[in-house]
Amino acid sequence: MDATLQRHADEIAAVIIEPLVQCAGGMRMYDPVYLELLRAACDRYEVHLIADEIAVGFGRTGRMFACDKAGIRPDLLCLSKGLTGGYLPLSVVMTSEDIYAAFYDEYVRLNAFLHSHSYTGNPLACAAARASLGIFRSDDVLARNVALATQMGSAALELQDHPHVAEVRQHGMIVAIEMVRDRANRMPYDWRERRGLRVYRHALTRGVLLRPIGDVVYFMPPYVISPDEIAYMGQVAREGIELATCD
Ligand SMILES: *Cc1c(COP(=O)(O)O)cnc(C)c1O
Repeated sequence: MDATLQRHADEIAAVIIEPLVQCAGGMRMYDPVYLELLRAACDRYEVHLIADEIAVGFGRTGRMFACDKAGIRPDLLCLSKGLTGGYLPLSVVMTSEDIYAAFYDEYVRLNAFLHSHSYTGNPLACAAARASLGIFRSDDVLARNVALATQMGSAALELQDHPHVAEVRQHGMIVAIEMVRDRANRMPYDWRERRGLRVYRHALTRGVLLRPIGDVVYFMPPYVISPDEIAYMGQVAREGIELATCD
């Protein structure tokens, strides 16, 4: 990334990343130090950094925002999902004072960034967001999640040595279990075998909604999940993975 920025800085408008967890890409996780170095590189080459925290924002990785784990601030921050706790659709793009000020000008300078969405700031959605943010404060959700996250890790621990599991990885309230044909050389299953679908189908019969991405089974539960439910979710995932990898 550093080399790319160095070579192309003058033609790159911004770097956009999902901090710590690339979700739809297969729950791929990386260390906060990458964010630290990326922030430094973007500063060095004067390229804006955009953090898409739509999935990982609002406590999902343990801190309020994934960027907090690296102690960095993006120039633009995309938020949605957890903002309303999922009750109503609302999204937000936040930016630094510098970028805001660049477009804040006398009307006659025609400098304004005339861009918005239909239903931006919808009052019902905003009320849901305010209620959800209130719960973060009143119930100290982030502190409670520390124990839940530990338990989620334990629920997947047994799978760490499974012959068809390449890796169990976790950032806070996201645990991902990657199924492979051969653990030793990490050879994946042929995607057409749809092993993840087998896990999904088994879990449904047990009343658990697991929705793997390809062969990556993951837990990303709502924060109201109970310790008993986490244990049950882990048990069902183990059964499902056993069934999905037994031939
Ligand atoms: C869900 C999601 C999106 C899509 O957001 P929309 O507001 O539906 O366009 C983008 N990025 C991430 C990381 C997401 O999880």
